[in-house]
Amino acid sequence: MKVGLFPGSFDPFHNGHLEIVERASRLFDEVVVAALRNPQKSTALFDLDERKAMLEEVVAHLPAARIVSVSTLLVNVARDVGASAIVRGLRAVSDFETEMQMAQMNHHLSGIETIFIPTSPKYSFIHSKLVREVAQFGGDVSAFVPKVVAEHLAAKFEAGQGGAGQGGAGQRGAGQGGKGAQ
Ligand code: ADP
Repeated sequence: MKVGLFPGSFDPFHNGHLEIVERASRLFDEVVVAALRNPQKSTALFDLDERKAMLEEVVAHLPAARIVSVSTLLVNVARDVGASAIVRGLRAVSDFETEMQMAQMNHHLSGIETIFIPTSPKYSFIHSKLVREVAQFGGDVSAFVPKVVAEHLAAKFEAGQGGAGQGGAGQRGAGQGGKGAQ
């Protein structure tokens, strides 16, 4: 069975991410979407449990998708889920350098390959960090995120919460499925 591992902070998960899961579902028998805690990050908007719960709702229509949340090295996750390859989305050339380094590091560590899926142009400007900022100041993010995520964002900022302290907002660690402010 071919298993694709799609890792990220997903803080929050948005429509660009969803499209990558949908397209990866056509390439793999199973797509494991891994919400990662990056220890280099001091704050996150949603904690890992919140992100996992949202992800499960958002990909419920995709039978091939499975959600995990993890706080360990990506290559260990890949081994644990039996991943055939890591899947990453590319928004622009600016993503490429860091993604290349992460792919090479992960290949060096475990031999696993990374598959890049170029985003649709309509999603290329969507970053989790921008979504957080727009939502924080009361902007309409409904065009950028699934409905359930928009609802959680509204609730989070209405409740006056700004960080789960789990790692996720704005920093990325090599090999951990992240690459700087998203
Ligand atoms: P990171 O992985 O850098 O922490 P995210 O969690 O936001 O950032 O992204 C996870 C994966 O989704 C990465 O492969 C990233 O390139 C990809 N991605 C992020 N935004 C988009 C987008 N708008 N379209 C397609 N892929 C995206």
